[in-house]
Amino acid sequence: MEYRSSWMTEELDVFRSQFRKYLAKDLAPHAEKWRQQKMVDRSAWRGLGEMGALLTSVPEAYGGLGATFAYDAAVFEDIESVVPEVLSGVTVSSGIVAHYILNYGSEEQKRRWLPGMARGELIGAIAMTEPGTGSDLQSVRTTARRQGDGYLINGQKTFITNGQTADLIVVVARTGGPGAKGLSLIVVETAANEGFRRGRNLDKIGLHASDTSELFFEDVVAPAENLLGGEEGKGFVQLMQQLPQERLIIAVCAVASMERAVKLTVDYTKERKAFGQPIIEFQNTAFKLAERKTEAMIARVFVDWCIGRLVAGDLDAVTASMAKWWCTQKQVETADECLQLHGGYGYMQEYPISRMFVDARIQKIYGGTNEVMKLLIARSL
Ligand SMILES: Cc1cc2nc3c(=O)[nH]c(=O)nc-3n(C[C@H](O)[C@H](O)[C@H](O)COP(=O)(O)OP(=O)(O)OC[C@H]3O[C@@H](n4cnc5c(N)ncnc54)[C@H](O)[C@@H]3O)c2cc1C
Repeated sequence: MEYRSSWMTEELDVFRSQFRKYLAKDLAPHAEKWRQQKMVDRSAWRGLGEMGALLTSVPEAYGGLGATFAYDAAVFEDIESVVPEVLSGVTVSSGIVAHYILNYGSEEQKRRWLPGMARGELIGAIAMTEPGTGSDLQSVRTTARRQGDGYLINGQKTFITNGQTADLIVVVARTGGPGAKGLSLIVVETAANEGFRRGRNLDKIGLHASDTSELFFEDVVAPAENLLGGEEGKGFVQLMQQLPQERLIIAVCAVASMERAVKLTVDYTKERKAFGQPIIEFQNTAFKLAERKTEAMIARVFVDWCIGRLVAGDLDAVTASMAKWWCTQKQVETADECLQLHGGYGYMQEYPISRMFVDARIQKIYGGTNEVMKLLIARSL
């Protein structure tokens, strides 16, 4: 019997079949260009918006589809398996940043920003990491000081996905004293904002089409109402509330990547011959693929359960951390082994498995490193 995710519906089947066709026909042909220019064109964002693939779990009143997180998961899975070049940017803007605005923004902010994000006209980023602060988020040094009826923001961020293109950036900044209680989230609108500067689009070993940047803030002005949640000092709590969704998104993408790697490798090893037979007929090849197929299935069932929990509103931080570390660990192992089964061709850029191998590696690092995930899980022991 073929396994089907419990959250799949007939309506979603119809949406996905059209969506995959769109991705293959309209976006995939541009993937190489985007990898070369280290950035996805804005036209792709607008196209995704027209398809109804952005902000799917945001209410219709704010321009979204009004669906559940299951729709987001479906969109991310399909992008991962057809045109992974646009995945990082979309997960950040649509799956993460939009939800900070939805959950902590004022009514006016939601109406001002979310419809544009849903249409793909506004791109969102979230800036937590600084050159000196990654895992230890409580040590953020960027400051936001009250001045008149706004905030003056000073500091530096790095490794920011969508940094080159973002119109809206949720900035983690210090509005109070040291530690977690001094942190707030403030939305910086980048258009005509003096003092805001985008630095280098950083050179990475993978995710070549995704822009990852340094950002500089020198006396950047943000109106006081751009403080998310309306009260200073809530930033760390807001991050902790949203991180389970971010971590589950990473796990969802990991599972889709594992499934794709196994499929590509089964196809390849059935075609490729050595010693007079298709290499899948060597027991080592078949056993390796059998193991990886099993792990992908286990990952899928667990992640599907987590999706159900998130939709029901009770995915806890510990379970999300389990999904994030285990699925990304298995993704990296799967990509490595599937590349191995491709032989030398697996090392060639023209074979997707080579890109899946390098792209997989960051999954164990961002969204909270896998070591940090284990710390969170360990606290529950
Ligand atoms: C491609 C890419 C995209 C990214 N996108 C974003 C983005 O959009 N927004 C954003 O804010 N950030 C983003 N990041 C940053 C990312 O989230 C951080 O790199 C990550 O959180 C780790 O922080 P760090 O690099 O400072 O590593 P560090 O915190 O310096 O960690 C270095 C090593 O020490 C380990 N370590 C740290 N603390 C502990 C501990 N207590 N116990 C055990 N081990 C520990 C870590 O696990 C890691 O192995 C991105 C990074 C990359 C590479």
